[in-house]
Amino acid sequence: MATTRELPQISGDVITPEDGRYDAARKTFYGGLDKRPAAIARVKNAQDVANVIAYAREAGIELAVRSGGHSVVGHCVSDGGVVLDLHDMKHIDLDVAGRTAWAETGATAVEFATAAGAHGLGVSFGDTGSVGLGGLVTGGGVGYLVRKHGLAIDNLIAAEVVTADGTLHQINAEREPDLFWAIRGGGGNFGVVTRVRFRLHQVDPFVGGMLMQPASAALIHDFIASSDAAPDELTTIANVMPAPPMPFVPAEWHNKLVVMSFVCYAGDGAAAERAIAPLRALATPIVDMVKPMPYAQIYPPEDDSYHPIANGRNLMLDAVDRRSAESIMEYLSTSKAFFRVAQLRVLGGAAARVADDATAYAHRKRRFMANVAVLVQSVEELPSHDGWLDDFARTIQRGPEAAYVNFLTTKGEARVRQAYPGGTYERLAAIKRRYDPTNLFRLNQNIAPRA
Ligand SMILES: Cc1cc2nc3c(=O)[nH]c(=O)nc-3n(C[C@H](O)[C@H](O)[C@H](O)COP(=O)(O)OP(=O)(O)OC[C@H]3O[C@@H](n4cnc5c(N)ncnc54)[C@H](O)[C@@H]3O)c2cc1C
Repeated sequence: MATTRELPQISGDVITPEDGRYDAARKTFYGGLDKRPAAIARVKNAQDVANVIAYAREAGIELAVRSGGHSVVGHCVSDGGVVLDLHDMKHIDLDVAGRTAWAETGATAVEFATAAGAHGLGVSFGDTGSVGLGGLVTGGGVGYLVRKHGLAIDNLIAAEVVTADGTLHQINAEREPDLFWAIRGGGGNFGVVTRVRFRLHQVDPFVGGMLMQPASAALIHDFIASSDAAPDELTTIANVMPAPPMPFVPAEWHNKLVVMSFVCYAGDGAAAERAIAPLRALATPIVDMVKPMPYAQIYPPEDDSYHPIANGRNLMLDAVDRRSAESIMEYLSTSKAFFRVAQLRVLGGAAARVADDATAYAHRKRRFMANVAVLVQSVEELPSHDGWLDDFARTIQRGPEAAYVNFLTTKGEARVRQAYPGGTYERLAAIKRRYDPTNLFRLNQNIAPRA
């Protein structure tokens, strides 16, 4: 354990186990993790970042990098090492007339959406407001406007990165294009991204919200087919799951299988109605909250005390056919977990018009993404669901196995390679060798430096 003398020297706060804030600061979105870092360094600027990197490198201790704390495998906390935490780096600098913005990566999706949304502008991030820009953007960012405006990285025009040797790199498509390519999908392997610059889109008017319908194989299949055939303005995320026993859900539906989808249209009026009508017509909605709203309101307030214990499998799919839909109904009806879900995201549109080798996210031609997951009562219970998750994923796989790095829950190089198909992995490994030859940034879905 580090002594006070050995702590990183920064202008921000350093939180150690004796500090009353320690337990809150080491908590992650997902529960069931109990890692105890020696220190959590709340950096305030790029110089602080360089100092923490130097400290970890020289002390030879594990370095974790944290922005929003939503890693699905807890990579943002080290057990015994140091956490470089961007929690206090949230500054957002908007150029409304030029339609661009710089943001420090400790800002969350909802913080950015709210700031830019005050001017009707925004970027497509993910489905959850509390996710940090640091992790989201370095993985890709697949969100509610992905078909209209692409992934978050498709609107990234510049970034600042502190690499393993402590150097600050100001990069874009012309300056250090390899590093700029790698941080758009390659995860946290290449350095600490301190600031990102986005091109902004007009995001208001916007129609969005939750639509809940009774689940059946026919509905699942037709909902996905209809979303796939819709104009790019429409993006849907469909969650097939037991209806939560919430006040807005009629009691007779509690715990019955439903399709709870988030339906988002970039625009409004008759065109929005026309695009959404085929989905509404598939089955009488149990709940229909889809309505005109400012885009930023698609991120409702969250309960900070919610820390689910979960596991899942992520898939990229070429099809969701009728047989897949039947399997989804069958698997969700047989799980012993208190909560289980199959999430289906329809991609395509602007995301698919980017070349596979233009960014390190190389799944551009895969039409659908799925996550199958369980929520459980205790960490001890998790392994008993592995077989179900693996079988479920295998049964609905259509096309080659692949994964989106930000949803990768399993470990090991074979699966990381699946996140980077078609030569992407090798190209990333060569860039990793140039910028992080000793693999200082290894607490992530790791790409080992290529010899
Ligand atoms: C509830 C939930 C919903 C989600 N929904 C979506 C979604 O709709 N779309 C989507 O695309 N993803 C989604 N994700 C996945 C999410 O994008 C990743 O988990 C992401 O890594 C979280 O970013 P973070 O900064 O909050 O996480 P952290 O846990 O802080 O960081 C995760 C990892 O990212 C890297 N990292 C973090 N910050 C930086 C930085 N500044 N510089 C370099 N590397 C960094 C590090 O390797 C770190 O271990 C979701 C996750 C959760 C938990």
